This record gives sequence, structure tokens and C-alpha cells, in this order.
Amino acid sequence: MDEKERRDILAALLDTTRECVLVTDEGYRISGWNEAARRTFSPNISPEGRRISEVLRELDLHEAFRKALDDGLESDIRLEIGTGRKFDVHVSPLRLGETREAIAFFYETTRLDRLEVVRQEFLSNISHELRTPLTSILAFVETLEDGGVDDEENKRRFLSVIRRNAERMNTLIADILELSQIEAGKVAVEPKAVGLSGLVNEIFTDLGSKARSREIKLASTIDPEVRVFADSQRLEQMLVNLIDNAIKFDRVGGTVTVSHERRDDLDLISVSDTGEGILPEHLVRIFERFYRVDRARSREMGGTGLGLSIVKHLARLHHGDASVESVLGRGSTFRIELPALEK
Ligand code: ADP
Repeated sequence: MDEKERRDILAALLDTTRECVLVTDEGYRISGWNEAARRTFSPNISPEGRRISEVLRELDLHEAFRKALDDGLESDIRLEIGTGRKFDVHVSPLRLGETREAIAFFYETTRLDRLEVVRQEFLSNISHELRTPLTSILAFVETLEDGGVDDEENKRRFLSVIRRNAERMNTLIADILELSQIEAGKVAVEPKAVGLSGLVNEIFTDLGSKARSREIKLASTIDPEVRVFADSQRLEQMLVNLIDNAIKFDRVGGTVTVSHERRDDLDLISVSDTGEGILPEHLVRIFERFYRVDRARSREMGGTGLGLSIVKHLARLHHGDASVESVLGRGSTFRIELPALEK
């Protein structure tokens, strides 16, 4: 095989990889590239014959090419380009004929890096969320140890604070496990035709005393005939979450209304409250894990900040979605969209 043939084979192979590949000659000029590299690093002019430093200015990369060309050594570097994309780059000497060349493979890590950040944030959120009730439990146990046990009047109160915080940790762990099961694809939904009105009325019964304690009226405008296509247990879980939130965040004496509408081939189930509404900057993040408008207030009400995230995941498992609209001072409407059973 002569050098030209070898080069042709190399070029054909490189074009099949998704990784970016650049080859330079002894003078640091680009002598080979694949389509991915051209699109990423030199979209407007052909890379042919350009110096590597004109295409990518990073000194580390230049040094890696120097090592490969002058010393015949391989090296690995991390590279971030102007657009914020990140790469692990492997540079090695390349011999295709008489000439000395160097070849660099760019493995993009942007997405993995982002996932790593998300993972770390999630862990730090969990630790923080668990520590708060734990600190409180420890403080009250200490108080009891330091003589509080003999304080008949306060003893019950201390114990009930300890219980409440332990229950909080329990709920939190249950929600975290639930979310991670869903995210790991371990939760399967079995959609069937479900009578929506009956389901909503059952939830109203379950949440009735909570609503009454805040003098909130629960209303449903759903036609008794309406059937939606969903896993009834999961649909109930989503609706309990949304209706429970609506009761918690509505104003005292307000109304929570659940309604249904068929739009094209979607069933839209809405849960509206007459609370204070949500500011646009919170609205866009509200389905994120642990995101809460008012951390202290949510905690006070036994919230974990995971409910809406679970709702969104469950809706997506049904090939649907969850969304929110809100008018400040008037209230919020959370909506579950589900693909309809029939048109
Ligand atoms: P939480 O356990 O705190 O209720 P969620 O994920 O269910 O967690 O909700 C996240 C946050 O979204 C809540 O803490 C609250 O700030 C806001 N939120 C949810 N539902 C409503 C609503 N109906 N009205 C106003 N704010 C709401």
C-alpha cells in the first residue's frame, strides 16, 4: 500500500467517527481532518494548511502537538473552546510514510461534565435537606438529656418536634428513592381508561380535612363521563401532589378547581388555585428537583421540593407532560397533559 492509499483509508475511517480528529504536519499545519472537526473548529474556511494555532489557540494543545512531533510522545489534555464545549484530547505521533505528523482525537465531554455537575448538586442538596431535620432532632434530644425529660410540661412538645423531623426525613428519603427509581427507568406505567371524575372526588375526600383546616373549597368541573388513558395509581399520585400543593399555597378561604379539557389528541387536566401566584423567574424552574420559592415556608408545611419533579417525570412516562401558568395575585394553574385514548 502506498502512502496515498493509506491516507485515503485513514480519511475514510476518520469521517465515520463522531469524535473530532485533526492531523498536523511537522510545521504544525493541518494536513488531515474529519468532517466533525471541520464543523466544530473551522466551520467557515477549509482547515487545509492552516496552522493549528490559528484554529485552536490553546497553549496546552500546541505543547501536546510539539511533544508528539519533536519527542514522539503521546499526551492527554483537557480543552475548552470559546463556545463552552469541553473535550478530552489525546494527541499522538503518526507515521504514514516518511513524514512526521501528529494526530489528535477530541472526545467531547460537555454533556458528561454537565451531568456530573447535576449529580453533585443533587448530592449536596440531599445532604443539606437531611441535615436540617437531623440537626433539630439532635438539639431536642440534647435538651431532653440536659434535664428536659423532667420538664413534664415541655417533654411532650420536644418529643413531637423530634417525631415531626424524623417523619420529614422519612418522607424525603421516600421521595428521593421514588425519583431515582423513575429516573433509572424502573417504574413502568400501565395505562388504562380511567374515570377522571371519580378519581378526583376520592382525592377530594382524602384531602378534605386539610382543605377545611384552611377553609378552602374543593371544586371539580369534570364531566362524569370523561375517561383518560393513564396508569390510575400514578395519575392519582400526580393529582394528589398538585391538589395538595394547591391547598397548601392557596389563600385561606380560597378555591381549588380541577377541570378537564380535550384539545386535539390530548387530555388536559388542570388544577387551579386562587393563591398569590408565582413570579416568572420561579415559574421556569419550579419543576426542578428541590426547587422551592420559599424554602422555609415549604419545609414548615412538610414539603420536600421533589413533588413537582415527580409529577413531571410521571407525566413524561405517560408520553405526556406537566406545565404551569400563573398570574400574580390571582393564582396558579398546574396542568397535566396526557395523550388521549381516542379522538
Ligand atoms: P414542595 O414539597 O415544596 O411542595 P413541590 O415540588 O411540590 O415541593 O413544589 C415546589 C415549589 O413550588 C413549592 O415549594 C412552592 O414554592 C411552589 N408551588 C408549588 N405549587 C404551588 C402553587 N399551587 N402555588 C404557588 N406555589 C406553588
